[in-house]
Amino acid sequence: MGDYWSRLLTVVFTSYLQFLIWALPMAGLASFARDWAPSPDFWQQKWTAVLDAFGHNQRVLFGMMPSVVSGVVYWTVSGLFMLIDFSGLLAAYKVQPGTNQPPSAPRLSNAARVVFVNQVVGFLFGLVAFEFGRWLNGREIDPEVVAVLPSIPTMLQHLMLTFAFREIFFYYSHRLLHHRLFYKRFHKQHHEWTAPIALIAAYCHPLEHIVSNVLPVAIGPVVLKSHPLISWSWFVLVTCWTLTVHSGYHLPLAPCPEFHDFHHQMSNQNYGVVGILDALHKTDLQWRNTQSFERSFILFGLRPSRQVLDRTRIKKQ
Ligand SMILES: [Zn+2]
Ligand SMILES: [Zn+2]
Repeated sequence: MGDYWSRLLTVVFTSYLQFLIWALPMAGLASFARDWAPSPDFWQQKWTAVLDAFGHNQRVLFGMMPSVVSGVVYWTVSGLFMLIDFSGLLAAYKVQPGTNQPPSAPRLSNAARVVFVNQVVGFLFGLVAFEFGRWLNGREIDPEVVAVLPSIPTMLQHLMLTFAFREIFFYYSHRLLHHRLFYKRFHKQHHEWTAPIALIAAYCHPLEHIVSNVLPVAIGPVVLKSHPLISWSWFVLVTCWTLTVHSGYHLPLAPCPEFHDFHHQMSNQNYGVVGILDALHKTDLQWRNTQSFERSFILFGLRPSRQVLDRTRIKKQ
């Protein structure tokens, strides 16, 4: 098999491995919760109570909740990363050592303001998209389908497909934003942070936020007509993912940030989320000759990636 195809297959395999590291424990937890419930319909009753609390209102379930869930996760997780930035606790895991430790207060408050505005825009867009979907379908999603908890295999199946949808739509929209017609006006703002931190994951022009952040994430659940619980889980997963790859830290068992961190440093490499389409379109070739690429693996131990790499080199000599 040629170099090109073997590289492509490796990227597909490692991408889904990174995804499964997070998705499988979620499915395991769901399965554990189901088996240890006091009665077989325990979780179904809880879900019915949630639906009752929301008045079975699909505008709330599909149009508002994904933004709310992702907003709560965004500020919680980026707040935790901020504590790490200010304490300097995990400095050994920094992708670009010595940068933003801690970030300057004016830059932070400006980033927080832009992110909040984008989240409000995203929330309003969710409502409009819901109304548009309802108009297009001529009706809401069957309430009987929403009323029943989804099975774990269905959940995994939808998550894996939405993961692929996001890679495709993010890659092409992001690459378009790098076109000279759009870059300065819309995308340059996100690249102001050449050493990113978690909080700036959604620091960008509002149009970029809708086209390149919200749409690629939302399109999967919309096309698949995913159950609200699957959609909420996806938004939690993807928000944690994007914050981690912007965090500037390569932490054990977390998605590796080297790929997107390098994009912030170089701009003309690594347009995708996990790199499947970059391998296909060869927009990762420069990166493949860097130390950042050598460090781009999932950490299965506590030793930071630079030390793992040094040890491997010493062993080889
Ligand atoms: Zn970014
Ligand atoms: Zn970019």
